[in-house]
Amino acid sequence: MIVLRSRREIEKLRAANQMVAGVLELLRKKVKPGITTAALDRLAEDAIVSQGARPAFKGYAGFPATLCTSINHEIVHGIPSPRRKLREGDIISIDVGVCLNGYYGDAAITVPVGEVSPAARRLIEVTRTCLDRAIARACPGERLHTLSHSVQEYAESHGFGVVRDFVGHGIGTELHEPPQIPNYGRPGTGLLLKSGMVLAIEPMINQGTWEVEVLSDGWTAVTRDRKLSAHFEHTIAITDDGPEILSSLPG
Ligand code: MG
Repeated sequence: MIVLRSRREIEKLRAANQMVAGVLELLRKKVKPGITTAALDRLAEDAIVSQGARPAFKGYAGFPATLCTSINHEIVHGIPSPRRKLREGDIISIDVGVCLNGYYGDAAITVPVGEVSPAARRLIEVTRTCLDRAIARACPGERLHTLSHSVQEYAESHGFGVVRDFVGHGIGTELHEPPQIPNYGRPGTGLLLKSGMVLAIEPMINQGTWEVEVLSDGWTAVTRDRKLSAHFEHTIAITDDGPEILSSLPG
């Protein structure tokens, strides 16, 4: 069932998502050659716990960490490790979720490590624009797959592959709620969007094929051709005035 959230509930979701946004800003500044993904994870967990919240991913279906850190050809669900150091030229997707007072926040960014190739930079920019395009269409009266299509159309027009196996989701008093939000689809089809829906929209865009594999750790999803992948996510509320991004900081 898709829950329509009251103004009061949306403010609680905003508080959780503002914390997520703050953690991502903190981590963005720490991304440098030489830092380990475990060090990033520790920073995130300390920040979340010290603000009275709980890391939402840790323990979710057995996931062992606060962050998902996915480097280069890793798409999503990479596990932070003390043995994994960032290197100049890498790109890293950092995904973080929190639960604050029973309400969830979830967002992700992809960050270049030092100087990256023009192709990597392009992939990051296109993926970020895919997210913006989907958010812009998140209005009452619109159909869900119109958002999905806007991602697919833009990514594929740049020759990139759109991941099928993982999708965005509703979010509220659970981390993952209906509906599922694919990043591909036919415009004008799918769920009718209404004011009060809160959605985590998260395009995952590959340099090459859309096909994925999951590594033997049971979590890390990688591109089948081992080309790069980028990922951005925002949690947004659909309001009578249009989309409101809950997981970006003012200014
Ligand atoms: Mg998510």
